[in-house]
Amino acid sequence: MRHRIVAERLPDGDMLKEWHMARADEQVSMCGRDLAENADELPDDAWGTNRARPFCHTCGALYLREVP
Ligand SMILES: [Zn+2]
Repeated sequence: MRHRIVAERLPDGDMLKEWHMARADEQVSMCGRDLAENADELPDDAWGTNRARPFCHTCGALYLREVP
């Protein structure tokens, strides 16, 4: 299963709040948050790197369970 990393921004739309993991074509993160359609995305291999920080703890835990 493919995943992608999606940015959640603060309500002002400018500052990054944190990154979430989402399954392939779902518009909801693995922790259940609605994702903006125009949100920034990273490939899932950026997980654990400085590019994808801060990262949602819930999404991180769920992702680890799905990926070998
Ligand atoms: Zn999340």
